[in-house]
Amino acid sequence: MDKRKPKGKRLIIVSNRLPFTIKKADGSYQFDESVGGLATGLRSYLESMKISSNENLDYAWVGWPGTTVEDDFNEEVKSRSIAEYRSYPVFLSEEDMEKFYHGFCNKTIWPLFHYFPSLTIYQEDYWQHYNKVNEIFCNTLINIVNQDDLVWIHDYHLMQLPLLLQARTPNIPIGFFLHIPFPSFEIFRLLPDRWRRKILEGLLGANLIGFHTYDYMQHFLQCVLRILGYEHNMGQIMLPSRIVKVDTFPMGIDFKKYSTAINDSEIQWEAKNLKETLSNAKIVLSVDRLDYSKGIFNRLQGFEILLEEQSQFRNNIVLILIIVPSRIGVEHYEQMKKQIEELVGKINGRFGTISWTPILYQYKYLPFQPLAALYNISDVALVTPLRDGMNLVAKEYIASKANELGVLILSEMAGSAKELGEAIIINPNNREEIASALREALEMPEDEQTRRMKIMRLRLQRYDIIRWGSEFVHQLIDATELQIRNYVKVL
Ligand code: UDP
Repeated sequence: MDKRKPKGKRLIIVSNRLPFTIKKADGSYQFDESVGGLATGLRSYLESMKISSNENLDYAWVGWPGTTVEDDFNEEVKSRSIAEYRSYPVFLSEEDMEKFYHGFCNKTIWPLFHYFPSLTIYQEDYWQHYNKVNEIFCNTLINIVNQDDLVWIHDYHLMQLPLLLQARTPNIPIGFFLHIPFPSFEIFRLLPDRWRRKILEGLLGANLIGFHTYDYMQHFLQCVLRILGYEHNMGQIMLPSRIVKVDTFPMGIDFKKYSTAINDSEIQWEAKNLKETLSNAKIVLSVDRLDYSKGIFNRLQGFEILLEEQSQFRNNIVLILIIVPSRIGVEHYEQMKKQIEELVGKINGRFGTISWTPILYQYKYLPFQPLAALYNISDVALVTPLRDGMNLVAKEYIASKANELGVLILSEMAGSAKELGEAIIINPNNREEIASALREALEMPEDEQTRRMKIMRLRLQRYDIIRWGSEFVHQLIDATELQIRNYVKVL
């Protein structure tokens, strides 16, 4: 029997957000599924575990339910979360959310780890609330975990939690996965000394720490060496009384779901309708959350250069620009939205005609079916982040192309570029390069499109979301056994 199979174990997923979001309406709380890469990806992995007879893995989820719940409703929300979603809500006050989530997470860690030091705010009360909220998560977890559990903590919101939990439950395997880039030492060191040490020490409370790419892992190991003085051997960090394993796990997608989407008659109908509406123009697709890291402005400028310099494309291509609202009400994001919308208006005004609009712009979230239809009909996907931990949209586009036709233009600053080398890889700061990549993509012969698609599809099919999840869990079990063996040796 494979001892690494997590039979009989319960996996506890801990993330800032639960797989559902609650909203108060008409005096009671309404539950809706959470959207976004992490929630959807983990749901697919957990579903597959439930179905698979080999890995009979029970699970629970711990996280914030998406709003501040009035005290009187805590018990009601808690029992419904457990009964319907196997989830344990962490209740946070509005002030905690403001300073922890909107503050330290989104104004300190997010910009810094995406290489935007000029947007980074260093504020002591944000840091204090970050620690406080990590402790609240720990207190909730302590009441739930038991000795047969594995705990898997997700993302930059909870980098203190591994050590807090390890101190109170030393024998429970703890894994941590970072979904955003880990920056180089020169960027990470911009954090005040006390904060950067505590962040690294917090992470080192885990038995296994995972990153999307080899580079992020190397950056982390270098920061641990230069700031805390711990060396590593093949990704194993020897602490005085513990071993921490660090490794790379590029997050995959539910390949089958995207690859077979076009067999769904509603998606087929939607795809056909869209094609007809667009009069068979060549379609370039752009889909992102509104965020400065996504490089949407540069992308539009690249498209403008294409229309300016390659007049043969006018009248017969369309850029579908989908922007998903994010961090609504934050001033910087509102400004960015305004700038993007002005540029869309400028390009449409400059090149458009009565019968042709170059950019079709939509500022809203698309559910799976219309998104899958768009992936399916698009001739080119234009993905140009200035920095992105992974970028799942690029992978979903490739997976959706069951007919092996279509071209991906992908920024070298996205984690996914490491796995999708057959895309047209560009530097997003070079708008001329974006324009020439668009030209190359629009003129690429079909046999070349197929050649590239085949290779990328095979890779994504092999290392899909299920493989990503099970490799992490298996390595977590291995890392914990390594710790036990080493601890016995030390004794
Ligand atoms: N997405 C969606 N509807 C939309 C736009 C995006 O469901 O209208 C999903 C998309 O399918 C992907 C995720 O949101 O799974 C975005 O993940 P990605 O890694 O590309 O970017 P993130 O927003 O996590 O930075």
